[in-house]
Amino acid sequence: MARPARAARVARPGPALAAVGETPLTALPGCGPKVAEKLAARGLTCLQDLWLQLPRQYEDRTRIAPIRGLQPGVAVQVEGRIEAVERGFRYKPTLRVAIGDESQATLVLRFFHFRAAQVAQFVPGARVRCYGTPRPGQHGLEIVHPSYRLLDVEADAVLGDALDPVYPAIEGIGAASLRRLIGLALDRLPDDAALELLPRELREGLHLPSLRDALLTVHRPAQDADIAALLAGTHPAQRRLALEELLAHHLSLRRQRMAQQAHAAPALRSTTLAERLRAALPFALTGAQQRVFEQILRDLRKPSPMLRLVQGDVGSGKTVVAALAAMLAVGAGKQAALMAPTELLAEQHLVNLRGWLEPLGVRVAWLAGKVTGRARAQVLAAVASGEAQLVVGTHALMQQGVVFHDLALAIVDEQHRFGVHQRLALRDKGAGGGDVGDVLGRAAAIVPHQLVMTATPIPRTLAMAAYADLDVSAIDELPPGRTPVQTIALSAERRPELVERIRTACAEGRQAYWVCTIIDESDEIVAQAAQTTFDGLTLQLPGLRVGLVHGRMKGADKQATMLAFKRGEIDLLVATTVIEVGVDVPNASLMIIENAERLGLAQLHQLRGRVGRGSAASNCVLLYQSPLSALARQRLETMRQTQDGFVIAEKDLELRGPGELLGTRQTGIAGFRVADLARDADLLPQVQELGDRLLQQSPDIAERIVSRWVGAALHYASA
Ligand code: ADP
Ligand code: MG
Repeated sequence: MARPARAARVARPGPALAAVGETPLTALPGCGPKVAEKLAARGLTCLQDLWLQLPRQYEDRTRIAPIRGLQPGVAVQVEGRIEAVERGFRYKPTLRVAIGDESQATLVLRFFHFRAAQVAQFVPGARVRCYGTPRPGQHGLEIVHPSYRLLDVEADAVLGDALDPVYPAIEGIGAASLRRLIGLALDRLPDDAALELLPRELREGLHLPSLRDALLTVHRPAQDADIAALLAGTHPAQRRLALEELLAHHLSLRRQRMAQQAHAAPALRSTTLAERLRAALPFALTGAQQRVFEQILRDLRKPSPMLRLVQGDVGSGKTVVAALAAMLAVGAGKQAALMAPTELLAEQHLVNLRGWLEPLGVRVAWLAGKVTGRARAQVLAAVASGEAQLVVGTHALMQQGVVFHDLALAIVDEQHRFGVHQRLALRDKGAGGGDVGDVLGRAAAIVPHQLVMTATPIPRTLAMAAYADLDVSAIDELPPGRTPVQTIALSAERRPELVERIRTACAEGRQAYWVCTIIDESDEIVAQAAQTTFDGLTLQLPGLRVGLVHGRMKGADKQATMLAFKRGEIDLLVATTVIEVGVDVPNASLMIIENAERLGLAQLHQLRGRVGRGSAASNCVLLYQSPLSALARQRLETMRQTQDGFVIAEKDLELRGPGELLGTRQTGIAGFRVADLARDADLLPQVQELGDRLLQQSPDIAERIVSRWVGAALHYASA
């Protein structure tokens, strides 16, 4: 059969050769069923999976760095003689080994877990070579848990001749065994004819190597390889792999979208109810709200499902846009659902929406985990009969037993807090409550339109990659009358001054938040810290009404406190980050964030967004513990300089990378093997263009690229 000329240029490996990659790992010597099982637990089942199990980083053991010139945060190999060994016990046992070298400087190696035999090895005068990342310690730089080797004979002292790859750890398989297995798999790497899937002219245009060459370079860097580029992740071999990986993710999202759009959705044409809501609102829509609502209007008129993401900065007024969209569904005699990630936020939506919609005669139902027993049965009945026209709630909306009469629009707020699965689960509640089943099998199913909203603005490049399955709109304008928030960073030692500041603000009738954060600790410990702060502030501010909310409190108590704060019955609210999203109290004009240096930009921005909602001048104080790391200093500086969520998102991407920005729950995107959206953003236009071309001309190649890279993660594509 003749193929179009352009497609013919895409390499087309023969089926026999392609099968080498699919050889099961048990074909490798030393890979018995036990080992294979451990590999399979990580999705590694065939040779190709090991080829693509790429090094996470490299260790440069080709040189020894003088201790005097060490930089904090930069991994190095050092060598020295042991000068002193000290065992101590403060909160937990520690072992400190001081080594010195010819540069006349000392470095501390610190161990928290060690065996007696290890301690015995460290005798003053012995020579030790180690590898690790120095960090500032109590007395100068130290390396915690370096990998090390004692050098007793001179012959031991040869240096490596190339970079050592470091692979992501796999439970139950030692680093050396994993390296050996990957080496064996690479020995069977076939020729490019059997491997290459990208068009040659594209690779050559970008000066990128073939897949085979790229894989060999990253797994086994040659002696003369560009070490600096490999360490930075910018080597052409790494770019080549990143291009294909980005392409694979892009294609998988695009296919997901195509599968969605093969469905039908109800065309919603009546705007009467939405117009009535708009006329009844106490404010006029901003230009941006208007524009985004018109985009939604156009989508919903069509008989195919809308898949739209609305990005809007904190406080840009997404809720009202969602309410207007919901009125298109309700106005057509159908139902809409709005799901929010926390009960606090969902309940606030409920209050706002009831306030707006009940005067129009729209029945708004409430469904959350705490709605149980008879009340729950009643809500479920109203949802199933269609009597409930708009249903607001939490994850509880997605549970089994929640059956809609005729769901036409599913709205997910703060979608970055949900995974892809959860978003799709709400969609599956559509059309008479039936399970739409296999999307590919039953193309004629009727599904609801989907509107997802996020208050964590995502840079354009990232949105293109992360949401290739969605159309993206931005509400990039704040309602009028907001005053900018003055932000300052203050060392925690100056905490006492703040107490005065709170007193003054509250004396003027304003309200304040005090946010306690402890990262990486349990809810319980955070709650304790908040309690302690609450007790302290209550004592220090006797004239003020101080409230407390944290995640360990009962929902009803949390709610009552929030409501009291909203009504102005509490002056100072001590809270954990439960207040992060959505909470809207316009009279609050002072926000204090403890341990601000430990929070990411997106989270700081969200928290700060709780103030500056009214007309009073607002302040945000970022309390930090000295000394600040360079990264933390940059973050706090960014917060001081700008209040634009889109600028902050760009900076966050630059400082922390996309995984953090999107949240770990965002399937797929955060788990790139080699691509880095900040570093490789310039490849995205190529990715998009090539993606279009492959889907049109060579869907089989597209399929192979997706299964090669996304493989096991693909199950959600047809979820
Ligand atoms: P977010 O986009 O962060 O979810 P909200 O929808 O909670 O923001 O809106 C924040 C506040 O702004 C709410 O009190 C809302 O009523 C108000 N608001 C929304 N749109 C406008 C507007 N066009 N003019 C004035 N106030 C508005
Ligand atoms: Mg919101």
